[in-house]
Amino acid sequence: MSKVLVIGCGGVANVAIRKCCQVSEVFSELCIASRTKSKCDQLAAELAGKTATKITTAQVDADKVEEVIALIKRYQPDLVMNIALPYQDLTIMDACLACGVNYMDTANYEPEDIEEPEWKAAYEKRCKEKGFSAYFDYTWQWAYREKFEKAGLTALLGCGFDPGVTQAYCAYAKKHEFDTIDTIDILDCNGGDHGYPFATNFNPEVNLREVSAPGSYWEDGHWVEIPAMSIKREYNFDQVGQKDMYLLHHEEIESLAENIPEVKRIRFFMTFGQSYLTHMKCLENVGMLSTTPIEFEGHQIVPIKFLKALLPDPASLGPRTHGKTNIGCIFTGKKDGKDKTYYIYNVCDHQECYKEVASQAISYTTGVPAMCGALMLLTGKWTQKGVHTVEEFDPDPFLDALDKYGLPRSESHDPVLVD
Ligand code: NDP
Repeated sequence: MSKVLVIGCGGVANVAIRKCCQVSEVFSELCIASRTKSKCDQLAAELAGKTATKITTAQVDADKVEEVIALIKRYQPDLVMNIALPYQDLTIMDACLACGVNYMDTANYEPEDIEEPEWKAAYEKRCKEKGFSAYFDYTWQWAYREKFEKAGLTALLGCGFDPGVTQAYCAYAKKHEFDTIDTIDILDCNGGDHGYPFATNFNPEVNLREVSAPGSYWEDGHWVEIPAMSIKREYNFDQVGQKDMYLLHHEEIESLAENIPEVKRIRFFMTFGQSYLTHMKCLENVGMLSTTPIEFEGHQIVPIKFLKALLPDPASLGPRTHGKTNIGCIFTGKKDGKDKTYYIYNVCDHQECYKEVASQAISYTTGVPAMCGALMLLTGKWTQKGVHTVEEFDPDPFLDALDKYGLPRSESHDPVLVD
């Protein structure tokens, strides 16, 4: 029996909330709070009578720490699930600390305006020290480690699929399959087709910033940075087929390098079709991905926000998306002195997700792990205090929960490796 405050009511939150309502014995009370309260009310109305979970709604601007504090004080939750945007991570963490409540999110902090001088100075220093320049990293949230430990609270970071489940797969491989892991390749394949010339599967701002950043990977104890989309491989994915995939910077590489220090190389690949890449390059070249406001006919406009308004809402892709996702990790390493390879992954069908929770698989594969992560914290399976990423916790109950609630694992002990 627990009370949970969910902040955000977009594509991912919709799935997480619907899944929480399937487990009412744990999620007995939920408050859905977001910037636009009407979206929370609409979801609450859809769920009314279909779940034993008691749902309330609230309006909150999570950029304002005092508003989040006031809401937490009013609602008195056991856990705050931040499923808004990465821009709100720090304000919500501050509010949780002020109120003595556990925290979790699905993506690491990044600033809304990357030209903001104070942030930019810290960013440039960080780039020099660490050797990668993608602007999403754990520095900001790891700075809260001592505060959460001292307060006896847990902050669970990045509990979606990637980051999230991919790190649980790494912890599982380390616990059950290997004595030492040499290499990790994280492969994120979306074989879905929504029929639009161009659309993003989750928040367009966050998604386009992620894929247009320089790529990087971890090798022999340091970062290797490459121009965006300059390393391409082909892979034949189970139940999806042959796809082109590109090496990207991805946040879990940073925490995995710290938590599994023996690993010699960690890479992250995501599949993209040629049409997506051509559209993205064009938008970038004309300045539509910029976060810097411009003056247009007497109005201040942020180009990427304007683009977001033009693109299809990711939440609307559900009914039109067909095909499957396949996301997982390929490992090489040693067990009992012998070389070994191992692949663990999940295959998820867009239309099956839509039938169950009225969403496509990208939101589903993020929202289900968010619910399962919350379940781990609320049922006392994950109790470590401080600020932690998923690979720092016991993967077994989490993977069991994912098997049960819609994202079952598949395995291969003889996978084709990525060169
Ligand atoms: P959406 O844009 O669909 O939803 C974001 C929600 O947050 C909206 O309800 C929005 O409200 C709300 N919001 C935005 N700003 C504020 C604010 N200041 N105060 C209160 N609420 C706010 O995003 P998604 O659902 O696609 O993504 C949610 C999160 O999941 C993101 O952080 C994303 O990066 C992450 N993600 C993680 C993945 C993983 O595998 N780990 C994969 C995919 C996404 P409004 O309706 O008013 O705009």
